[in-house]
Amino acid sequence: MSRIHDARLELRGELEAPPPLRRFGSGWISGVLGFVLGAAGLLLVVSFRFPSILSMPETRELDQNPWFRLALHAILISAFILSLLSLVLRPGKTLGTCGAVAVLLAGLIGGSRAAALSSTQTPIFFGLDWFVLNVLFTGLLFIPVERIFPNKPEQEIFRAEWREDLFYYLVSSLMVQILTYLTFMPARTILAFTSLSTLRQWVGALPFVVQFVAIMFLTDVVQYWVHRAFHRIPWLWKFHAVHHSAKSMDWMAGARMHFFEIFALRSLTVIPMFVLGFSTAAMHAYILLVYVYSTFVHANLGWRLRLFEKFLVTPRFHHWHHGIEPAAVDVNFAVHFPILDRLFGTYHLPKEAWPAGYGIPGHPVPQGYLPQFAYPFARQKQPLEPTS
Ligand SMILES: [Zn+2]
Ligand SMILES: [Zn+2]
Repeated sequence: MSRIHDARLELRGELEAPPPLRRFGSGWISGVLGFVLGAAGLLLVVSFRFPSILSMPETRELDQNPWFRLALHAILISAFILSLLSLVLRPGKTLGTCGAVAVLLAGLIGGSRAAALSSTQTPIFFGLDWFVLNVLFTGLLFIPVERIFPNKPEQEIFRAEWREDLFYYLVSSLMVQILTYLTFMPARTILAFTSLSTLRQWVGALPFVVQFVAIMFLTDVVQYWVHRAFHRIPWLWKFHAVHHSAKSMDWMAGARMHFFEIFALRSLTVIPMFVLGFSTAAMHAYILLVYVYSTFVHANLGWRLRLFEKFLVTPRFHHWHHGIEPAAVDVNFAVHFPILDRLFGTYHLPKEAWPAGYGIPGHPVPQGYLPQFAYPFARQKQPLEPTS
């Protein structure tokens, strides 16, 4: 057991290696890429073997797509070559070995040709393949841009608490079925008890762009007030404090959110979108936008989007929402349109400046997924009575 623990520590030490040990030619880049791609390939192959339990119904069709299989094959081959390169270049062999072992394991259980072990359908599934696709897509999209245009150039990819935030990605991806069900449950209930057919028909017939912008605006109005309630009502704040406990902002930071907050925030914000009868195409386009946009506003991106930021939320705007200084408390609640904060008196965007740091003063939220899950339910420690 301690060997596994030691190997984990060694692997973590390699991923978080200091700059001199990461320089070009040191085998770090090839080692990290080889390990990440190898692990991603292995997890995808595992989900191919147990599709009814570890794969989303929406992505199960992808599993059979020859192009997707080819992409997986390319991932495994690249992971193996990169791991070998790292083994040659790097004195420490942990990264290269882990990457190569992941590829070999993936090959042993079927590789890119892996077939399902059983075709029995199960009522419950976990989105393991969704987790891999999620992290690969978001990471590939944001890491290069964050490296080229960083707000904090000194911030590492594997910065403090990166494992926690990755774990949030894992949990919300695995729980995709229950989260989707819970997200739409209140809206479905409202729809079952109301008859809005004329309004729904009219809304559904509006031009796509009008529907898309209307969804953005309506969800943002609801989101603004729910978000503000999460800040202002003390017991709700304990849930939302988990999101604000992030001390570093980047593409992973936004994933940190208490399970109950994800449910409450999403289910309330989708109500107007779902109840008013917007077309499926407009809803899907919006869901895709918000998926990328919520990562974008947390990203470590130093872009000066002067004209853009007058109308739309930017990373600088949302970074101020996460700022640790007193001026950043309870400001910038909007996710798309800053005008909502202007209207309701919570706008704060000092010219050119960025917050000095992120998090909650005193950092009251514990570290780790489970302590953070329990945090809102824990009793506040009472100060000891002074003894005389
Ligand atoms: Zn907040
Ligand atoms: Zn945030």
